[in-house]
Amino acid sequence: MVLRVGVVGGGQLARMMIPAAVNLGIEIRVLAEAEGMSAALAATAVGDYRDLATVAAFAAEVDVVTFDHEHVPQPVLRALVDAGVRVHPGPEALQFAQDKLRMRERLQALGMPQPEWAAVSDEAQLQAFIDANGGRAVVKTPRGGYDGKGVRLVSSAAEASDWFAAVADDPAGSALLVEELVDFRRELAQLVARRPGGEVRHWPVVETVQKGGVCAEVFAPAPNATARLVEVAGEIGDAIVSGLGVTGVMAVELFQTVDDRLLVNELAMRPHNSGHWTQDGSVTSQFEQHLRAVLDLPLGDTAAGAPWTVMMNILGGPLEGTLDARYVAAMQEVPHAKIHNYGKDPRPGRKVGHVNVVGENLDDVTFDARAAAAYFEG
Ligand code: ADP
Repeated sequence: MVLRVGVVGGGQLARMMIPAAVNLGIEIRVLAEAEGMSAALAATAVGDYRDLATVAAFAAEVDVVTFDHEHVPQPVLRALVDAGVRVHPGPEALQFAQDKLRMRERLQALGMPQPEWAAVSDEAQLQAFIDANGGRAVVKTPRGGYDGKGVRLVSSAAEASDWFAAVADDPAGSALLVEELVDFRRELAQLVARRPGGEVRHWPVVETVQKGGVCAEVFAPAPNATARLVEVAGEIGDAIVSGLGVTGVMAVELFQTVDDRLLVNELAMRPHNSGHWTQDGSVTSQFEQHLRAVLDLPLGDTAAGAPWTVMMNILGGPLEGTLDARYVAAMQEVPHAKIHNYGKDPRPGRKVGHVNVVGENLDDVTFDARAAAAYFEG
């Protein structure tokens, strides 16, 4: 019998699960938000992921439900589980990716290293935190943030007054998260996978570079990382994925501080931009691993297949459908670059694809990845 995986959300993460599913002999179906989305290459239903009847009807046709994003509401997820649907990751785990305050509380209980943080319910509490942390702090909306939206550096509580007003009537909680402004050397990401049976495997920790709040470049493995740093990052990933009972792929975004501590920034419970390098640079890609994990199949080897992989995002470039002249030029000039096209309409700043380059020498690989991606700029 052919196994069927249902992916809620029709974006590029669902799209990139499709070739992995084809190779595994798994059927993949997508519940997309609209017609013509990135993952519409698979059998696609269109419907509202917030509507229980819609999601339940979709779930009835598949063996396991998983996600392209973390936005399916908790009541919908819990109703599916109560009805006997296999949901991975499940609602218990997903709540910690949906709500940054719950995440901070839970990670604290697990003893994970984190920035100083607090839940603040009004401007007086926020101001007290700012005053106690050097006059500046990072305020975050607990829910609904992505790509830096919902994150604000403030030096006075009044700068977050609009956000206090916005969450005042939120039934899920009216506090904001505030964190110390971490003095970090760089940002890292630890990718890890776990199956329901408990098996866990992590990839080597990578360095991520953000531009304007959006992931721009990933270097795999993280350059100049000591063996101890690699080990500790892996241990953090393993402890969180097991401690939170996550099933599937999870990314832990980390800060490496100027004094070389690792602090957890946030979690993503799905394949993640920091793991796109695995498509061409690892024995097992994060998309294949996610499918194996949610189906409770043995996990694949997470070793890197080459010394270095560099991933560059293509933001808003001309990657729509057809192979236009710049796409062809990139293929021509950097033939070893692997170009991944999400089939999305280009808009300024929108992630429409990425480039992976794999090789022996980090400088060469970086140069070539940037050269290939540059064809899509502007
Ligand atoms: P999002 O959910 O939008 O990805 P994040 O919590 O990851 O938000 O924050 C986005 C970016 O803001 C991070 O990648 C980092 O560069 C910066 N940032 C977030 N929290 C802090 C912090 N406590 N100190 C310093 N920089 C931070």
